[in-house]
Amino acid sequence: MAVVDSQPTPQPQAPQLKPTDQTRAKPHITDQPMTRKNWYKHVNWLNVFFIVGIPMMGCIVACWTPLQLKTAIWAVAYYFATGLGITAGYHRLWAHTSYSATLPLKIFLAAVGGGAVEGSIRWWARDHRAHHRYTDTDKDPYSVRKGLLYSHFGWMLMKQNPKRIGRSDISDLNDDPVVIWQHRHYLKVVLFMGLIFPTLVAGFGWGDWMGGFIYGGILRIFFVQQATFCVNSLAHWLGDQPFDDRNSPRDHLITALVTLGEGYHNFHHEFPSDYRNAIEWFQYDPTKWSIWVWKQLGLAYDLKQFRANEIEKGRVQQQQKKLDQKRAKLDWGIPLEQLPVIEWDDYVERTKNGECLITVGGIVHDVKDFIQHHPGGRAMINSGIGKDATAMFNGGVYFHSNAAHNLLSTMRVGVIRGGMEVEIWKRAHMEGKDSTVVKDSNGDRIIRAGNQPTKIIQPSVSAGAA
Ligand SMILES: [Zn+2]
Ligand SMILES: [Zn+2]
Repeated sequence: MAVVDSQPTPQPQAPQLKPTDQTRAKPHITDQPMTRKNWYKHVNWLNVFFIVGIPMMGCIVACWTPLQLKTAIWAVAYYFATGLGITAGYHRLWAHTSYSATLPLKIFLAAVGGGAVEGSIRWWARDHRAHHRYTDTDKDPYSVRKGLLYSHFGWMLMKQNPKRIGRSDISDLNDDPVVIWQHRHYLKVVLFMGLIFPTLVAGFGWGDWMGGFIYGGILRIFFVQQATFCVNSLAHWLGDQPFDDRNSPRDHLITALVTLGEGYHNFHHEFPSDYRNAIEWFQYDPTKWSIWVWKQLGLAYDLKQFRANEIEKGRVQQQQKKLDQKRAKLDWGIPLEQLPVIEWDDYVERTKNGECLITVGGIVHDVKDFIQHHPGGRAMINSGIGKDATAMFNGGVYFHSNAAHNLLSTMRVGVIRGGMEVEIWKRAHMEGKDSTVVKDSNGDRIIRAGNQPTKIIQPSVSAGAA
């Protein structure tokens, strides 16, 4: 309900009637499936009139109303003022209390916010808090999961069952006299700030009464509504998710440009009580800049800001998650604990029978398909077959690269019984003592660079020299 607020202010409870067949309430229209016969009952016609009907009439009348330069500048300036009423006032001040405002600033924001014609602060903030609390669920009043257009304005054009919307606490707003005053006199505020005031400015200012009404009033309301509705639609649909990708909020410059800086929405849903949406100085957030300027003027105070340390933690965790997903897609070879244990004599025997097996670090590798591709030549790799090539591989003949250890791991076929660290590690794993093994959030082992089990820091050849 963009314009007319149907939510009653708290009233003393009327004595409850005993439910009989006559008094039992009919199911809400939204609980009935939409059919050809009842579809019009699902539509909120009042909101359709205000959000779609009036702007269309405005477009038609605009064809006969010349646009004067002064009126155009005034309409754009008033667009920004009323937009700020929503972003800096309704959203960051009242819905999230991300800063405190002095009384004159509160009155200004409540007035210009009313001029954007998006419901009272009280109603708007209640829904918005539910949106943050129940993002993407059925209790989210404008869940993008129900479709992009639904989250944009479908939720206002179609009737909603108020009982389905998640509960949110707005007791602090009920204690704010500006909020309560604006809620009580909402229709008067909307008519005056939405239509009469922009008409008066253009009329008394430069005699353009009709232009002020059409461009500064009706069409400006349409643009500011569509722009701020994008916070619920575009900001949950377009862009990156640098802080958390479990829900739909996203960051994108286009959304920021359209919404006076509310486009860094992934950040905003993670840190909703931060007065900023954009944390970098070069990102577009005129709402943040305005709040900062008001602070310098002594109109705003207690600007809330999360520490960079906390913000970076969220960013790093998300990067880690992405990295884990990438790692999980790669072939790291068969995990050691799943490999069969081979006796040393059996290993030697099998190579005599023609199998191309090489043992490095107690792990048996089948190098048959790799011999011809070995950068060091066939002879060199052939000389390791049937032997313990640990020292050879780890510098005895050639210091193999990290990439070579990684590649070797994809050729694993078994482990030698008692084979150096590997068998010991394998036993520890069975007994659940392998606490040194690092695993990612999916439970997959992380093999750090230079950490392959075939990498033996002190090759046995040097042991002999000692
Ligand atoms: Zn959101
Ligand atoms: Zn918010």
